[in-house]
Amino acid sequence: MIKVIKNISNVYDSTVTRIFLLILFCAMGAGKSALAQDLPDLGDPFRDDFSLFQERVIGDSIMGNIRSSPAYVSDPEIADYLNHLGYQLVANSDSPATEFYFFVLINQTLNAFALPGGYVGVHSGLILESDNESMLAGVLAHEVAHVTQRHIARIIAGQGRARIGSLAAMAAAILAARSGGDVAQAAVMTSVALPMQSRLNFTREHEREADRIGLRILKQSEFDPHQVPLFFKHLQRQSRLYESGVPEYLRTHPINSERIADIEARLAKVSLVQVEDSIALLFVKARLRIYQDGSLSAIEIFKEQLNSQDKKVRVAGMYGLIYSLIVGNELNALTLDEARATVDAALSFEPGHPMLLSLEADFERLLGDLDRAGVLYAEALEHYPSRKSLVYGYAELLLSSERFKDLEKLMSDLVWSAEVRDPKYYEYRAKAHAGLKQKMAMHLDYSEVLAMTGNLVGAINELLAAQKATDGDFFLRTSVDSRLRELEEIQRTLAQ
Ligand SMILES: [Zn+2]
Repeated sequence: MIKVIKNISNVYDSTVTRIFLLILFCAMGAGKSALAQDLPDLGDPFRDDFSLFQERVIGDSIMGNIRSSPAYVSDPEIADYLNHLGYQLVANSDSPATEFYFFVLINQTLNAFALPGGYVGVHSGLILESDNESMLAGVLAHEVAHVTQRHIARIIAGQGRARIGSLAAMAAAILAARSGGDVAQAAVMTSVALPMQSRLNFTREHEREADRIGLRILKQSEFDPHQVPLFFKHLQRQSRLYESGVPEYLRTHPINSERIADIEARLAKVSLVQVEDSIALLFVKARLRIYQDGSLSAIEIFKEQLNSQDKKVRVAGMYGLIYSLIVGNELNALTLDEARATVDAALSFEPGHPMLLSLEADFERLLGDLDRAGVLYAEALEHYPSRKSLVYGYAELLLSSERFKDLEKLMSDLVWSAEVRDPKYYEYRAKAHAGLKQKMAMHLDYSEVLAMTGNLVGAINELLAAQKATDGDFFLRTSVDSRLRELEEIQRTLAQ
């Protein structure tokens, strides 16, 4: 269920740097349709050569590679938190309808970046170093502004039209390669990305514009914009810690005294905002601390937090201790009775908090009390029916206790009701069908998992296998046949 990452690997660095270079090369037309009327003072980049569809194809493809990197954080609590925060900001931007997806990479440097297709990545180090939610929101708002103002597109536009022609060709190549599997896709990406080393930075004008618009978004979302210059001080402190000098954020978003003065001038008339931080940020930090530094060293920090004067910090310390027991199997840090008492104490401070309910149920499940865990998940899901951490945890419990019928029902309800399609829902339902020995239904669901993760050939093969199964009723057979026709039609279109 939960991916634990103990250290940052070099594999990540080289892959992601390469991908990031590619991104700047190929990102065109971010938020193009919605923003055509709102492109102020930065000239007129190409608006028509690169469709939103192509941008999405390239963004999805890059994201596919990032998702398979060990640094990618798939933790549902963290994803929920960051996207909730991000969408608060997007709602107050110039193009609130733009689709975004915010994600975290385990990396202790302070950085954040935007990709084509509305993907915004944040390093774990940046979240851990954020003193409060406004500071983190300030960085996200800046990235949101880079996307809505189409800055990456503008950089590419500066490279000249000849290159852009080859971008359309590249989008087509990625689509074709996607049907041929990961190896072909990687080959396409590497060949395009490597020559792009020198073109990483946004210009000063881009930065000023992203600052200006980011501050506006931050104010309208009722966060404290004065946290932005404080974040820059964190950066300066970090640059003293690293021998090589400049932190990554400064390389991708150059800051100079003029830019800081500009921000401070804008803030001179803005009154201080007192924002009550959510405890969710402290819980998210606890999880990230474990992923980034490992549970053994994180436990020392959590134990210190237990002595804090601040109630929220104490509860976060309890949360971190229990979570490190869960993921790191570090039961020697507390006895079982102490651990249970700690969960109860945390819940008495923050009764009904969904992250604590989920923690409590996971704790009982992993300790082996499946009956108690089952009751806890079911109760919590009544209040938070689509909360992913609860859904995944309960699904694992149903799977391990071979309650396949219950699992099938839980996932079917979610598949029908969820606003956002989640391949994991289909994957869990496929496992339920497998347990129930329903082969046709199982292949149909696996085909959906593959289609949603961009593997068209695999999806079609699953449907062909579904057709060969003989255990489906008329309606199921009809669904398989019509889905197969749809996917084959898409495949023919791509081949042309
Ligand atoms: Zn920037």
